[in-house]
Amino acid sequence: MSPAKPPAKPPRAPGRAEPSTPKPAPTAATKAIHTAWPLAVIGALAMASGNPLTPTTAGGDTTLASPPPAREAAAMPAATLSSDRVSAHFIDVDQASSALLEFPCGAVLIDAGARDQTSVDHLVGYLDAFFARRPDLHRRINTVFVTHTHVDHNRGLEAVAERFDIGGYVYNGHLTGSGRVGAKWMADHARQTKIPTDSLSESQISSSQGYTDGVVDAVACPRVDPTINVLSAAYPENPGWDEGEYDNENNQSLVVRVAYGKTSFLFTGDLEEPAIDTLVEKYRASGALRSSVYVVGHHGSANGTTRGLLDAVRPDIAVMSMGRPDVHVPWTAWAYGHPRRDVVELLDQSITRPRDRIEDVQVADGVKRFSPYTIRHAVYATGWDGPITIAGDASGVLKVEREPGG
Ligand SMILES: [Zn+2]
Repeated sequence: MSPAKPPAKPPRAPGRAEPSTPKPAPTAATKAIHTAWPLAVIGALAMASGNPLTPTTAGGDTTLASPPPAREAAAMPAATLSSDRVSAHFIDVDQASSALLEFPCGAVLIDAGARDQTSVDHLVGYLDAFFARRPDLHRRINTVFVTHTHVDHNRGLEAVAERFDIGGYVYNGHLTGSGRVGAKWMADHARQTKIPTDSLSESQISSSQGYTDGVVDAVACPRVDPTINVLSAAYPENPGWDEGEYDNENNQSLVVRVAYGKTSFLFTGDLEEPAIDTLVEKYRASGALRSSVYVVGHHGSANGTTRGLLDAVRPDIAVMSMGRPDVHVPWTAWAYGHPRRDVVELLDQSITRPRDRIEDVQVADGVKRFSPYTIRHAVYATGWDGPITIAGDASGVLKVEREPGG
């Protein structure tokens, strides 16, 4: 259903962080920092954790958000990531997208894509292992978002919905595109099993912080309450793009922002340049696009990231979901040429936080054409790194975590 009047979100605990109250309630870890740490470190942490005028100047994917120069590092205690945290798991689904957001009291899935059945099995296996580790969540995903109706974003939707308890489903209302079979199946399944559903269009987004309701934001943790907003949705009318751009399902992608105190993630689906420009213009005044982690649009495609978007987001870390360059068959990163060199260079230049390890990777100069690149800043990709988890706490301390052996 698409409720005319959205259901009210459950009452919030005091100290809700964003957008109404910028300062989250201190966690045990941040309290400890403020009682025991040298002022210089507290200053570095405060600077790193979200002052929009002061981007992080250094980093390294340790638990320290903004460490001092290397020669002083040994004398400084590392900032610890609070156990009260959000973890975004970028699941390796090959040339496709699926990210699981893990909160202290819930879970949210943004896209359930997969390149093929093997990737679907991998997605489901990852979620099985996750819920085995978090039995307190009772195999419940509070909300499943599908950014748009392409198979690389919803091929695994049926498998996920049949295996796990889905609390709500949010999509752009489109039943066309390469993922239409899965989208129709899910619409029917949600109706039959009474899963609350939002099919969102731009006409519902009136706030300068985007749209939210009890389906979009169904996670209400007692200590730090996450804030989930949809910043862009389906366009019922062409906002002035070329006809081909308007008919392109990529440009109808949901844009989702998830905040946990001062840690935030921005998902732009597969938006391409005209829709990105419209998005940036829409939130220029409110600054609502500013996020600590940018989930790189359109798998690192040449048309999925712009300088204007990066200027608005100002991420500390970027992460891409795409396949490996050495699989030479159709529908792969190799066939599409993802990620494109220009985008990787733009990200590598815009982000100042160093990578946890400098890596020689392959980037695309065009479709089916790759060459080496040495990536030095905090830009990660499932096709380079395998599954990547980015954890952050309410104070904005970020940490990149890899699977054992990753
Ligand atoms: Zn895609």
